[in-house]
Amino acid sequence: MSEAIYSKILLPIDLGEPCTWEKPLPVVLNMVRNSGAHLDVLTVIPDMGMPVVGSFFPPDFEKKARSKAEEELQKWMAKYLPDDVDAEAWVSVGSVYHKIIKVAKRLGTDLIVMASHRPNMQDYLLGPNAARVVRHAPMDVFIVRSDCPPEAVDDKRQ
Ligand code: ADP
Repeated sequence: MSEAIYSKILLPIDLGEPCTWEKPLPVVLNMVRNSGAHLDVLTVIPDMGMPVVGSFFPPDFEKKARSKAEEELQKWMAKYLPDDVDAEAWVSVGSVYHKIIKVAKRLGTDLIVMASHRPNMQDYLLGPNAARVVRHAPMDVFIVRSDCPPEAVDDKRQ
């Protein structure tokens, strides 16, 4: 019987939302330490959706957003990941769940660990991105139930 050990773990986070890593990160670090797995951390810059929306933004918007996100993610890695963890940072642009699955397939991820939802979705047990990843990812997915207090809500979509 093969050993049930993961070797490539993907942690998708929204850099603007600590709830997306506060509970999953200790779980991931524990797994990584126990198994010696490689950790990939991914943040996705959501795209504009319809081309007509994108046409209102300057042509270099995506390039600038990507390089800012790369910079922020590097800071996040330095702040939150212990030096002994073998980790890499990834930034992608597009539909969040679609990119999580696409990057996971490309990197050969065998486990995606993610929080169930962000605080602005308290009424749902599983947010739309988490639900889609669970439904469509071919690899294992570990959902860490979020319990961020509703007062931490910063609903940018209102
Ligand atoms: P909600 O609907 O509450 O926003 P989501 O399903 O979008 O819930 O969020 C659940 C998880 O999806 C997050 O913990 C994170 O792992 C992932 N996620 C959400 N947004 C992003 C993002 N921009 N980049 C990477 N992962 C994300």
